[in-house]
Amino acid sequence: MNDPVSAAYEAFRTELESQGLLISMGVEGLYGRSGTFEDVVERLNAAIGAVGDPDGPEVMRFPPGLGRLQLEKSGYVRNFPHLAGTVASFAGSNQDHAALLARLSNDEDWTDMQRPTEVALTPAACYGVYPVIAARGRLGAAGALVDVYTWCFRHEPSIDPARMQMFRQREHVRIGTPEQVASFRALWLDRARALVESLGLPAAIDVANDPFFGRAGKLLAATQREGNLKFELLVPIVAEAPRTACVSFNDHRDLFGRAWGIELEPGETAHTACVGFGVERLTLALFRHHGFFVADWPDSVRHVLGF
Ligand code: ZN
Repeated sequence: MNDPVSAAYEAFRTELESQGLLISMGVEGLYGRSGTFEDVVERLNAAIGAVGDPDGPEVMRFPPGLGRLQLEKSGYVRNFPHLAGTVASFAGSNQDHAALLARLSNDEDWTDMQRPTEVALTPAACYGVYPVIAARGRLGAAGALVDVYTWCFRHEPSIDPARMQMFRQREHVRIGTPEQVASFRALWLDRARALVESLGLPAAIDVANDPFFGRAGKLLAATQREGNLKFELLVPIVAEAPRTACVSFNDHRDLFGRAWGIELEPGETAHTACVGFGVERLTLALFRHHGFFVADWPDSVRHVLGF
């Protein structure tokens, strides 16, 4: 750990683990959480929900997986092959099993004896929503509004405790006309900033781009940036720079509408947008800015979290 940022990651992680808030699992980016940590996560999640509840969103909860074909159809495998994860399992014969046992007892690699299953790991909470909405048929002029909360996976092992491989996202997803989607995003930019500031956290909103893979990805990232399609709410967690994205505001235009054939009216493809809160990142930010003892947090922050 030579550079100061890496040293800061390492130091913060060590502190979180020694306070018992995060529990090391022996793999970079994979952590257990303590009761105290989870209590804050749940209260934060409830506070986010309370902001969106007046809109009357349809609530959907999914397991941390989705169909492998759905992940493919969404374009994720094409754009983010380095982040995607699929579930593999053993489906061999008795003979194959004997070979597997032999490898295990010889401490040899056994992983190529697994085959992909139908299940992929969910990369972002909203990915479960689009195929469900599409399967219902034409939406009509009002479109749809969905509240979703899911464990997500991204294969990006890191020493930064705020960059976990498995984490939760609370999202609100709007499916409708370009105008409906734009006003949803503008509304949530204000709401998210107000919520994060009420938690006593310094927030800045900036244009961002996703880490698309490869040379073609550079072009996609530039398009996303220049089109203002992605904003992030950034909070300094581990270091003043780079700050950590804790909320993202995404305008997918008609990408998912086309991928899934979601229509509002005959011939009118739906646009979609989502706002996603990284609940672990915000929880880490709270511990960073207000200290490791929740009882000592400012009254105003405790009030927002319902303590
Ligand atoms: Zn999303």
